[in-house]
Amino acid sequence: MRVYVATKNRGKLAELQAIFAGTFFDLLTYGAYADVEEGDVSFQENALLKARALHEQLKSAGVAAAVIADDSGLCVDALDGRPGVLSARYAGANATWEQRRQRLLDELRDVSDEKRTAMFVCYMPLVLADGRTWMGEGFARGHITRELRGAGGFGYDPIFVPDGEVLTFAEMGEEKKNAMSHRHAAATALLSRLRP
Ligand code: IMP
Repeated sequence: MRVYVATKNRGKLAELQAIFAGTFFDLLTYGAYADVEEGDVSFQENALLKARALHEQLKSAGVAAAVIADDSGLCVDALDGRPGVLSARYAGANATWEQRRQRLLDELRDVSDEKRTAMFVCYMPLVLADGRTWMGEGFARGHITRELRGAGGFGYDPIFVPDGEVLTFAEMGEEKKNAMSHRHAAATALLSRLRP
């Protein structure tokens, strides 16, 4: 099934393509996709906003197609769940990724190792050409490091170590991260709901 992905984030797209390789989803991007303004209420709501926006944009261009989207972010326990839905806009919409990661590390400077727990969250809706909608959700629990580690991945990967591992998402390599990521879990949940 040809499925368009509502994202302009290359890191996410590459991850999604690797995750869905070997499934019946054939992922495509729509070059003219115009990102929507995300809200600050929930991952679910933002994910649906994105999927429906691309669905509409394709429809206006005469393409009736299935769409998936992903809204994801990092929730840090010691920060009452921040940055959460604001993960991509933390430290200001114009902040660089270095600044966002550094802000998080600064905010956690006095937080002990045991209290640095965090969770990556992902909600992934699929909207079929006829509008029927499914949702998958996934979580990856872990902790926030005290310094940046690793050159791979994107976003908060260099400061997140998943439970049971010693390497950050940015150190462990794509294949390993993809197997244990919140995005992988959300895709698995979504696919399992599509099968009878
Ligand atoms: P959004 O889903 O477009 O709102 O973006 C969420 C933000 O959370 C992204 O820009 C990422 O930087 C961050 N994020 C989501 N998933 C990951 C991940 O797997 N690794 C690192 N950062 C992530």
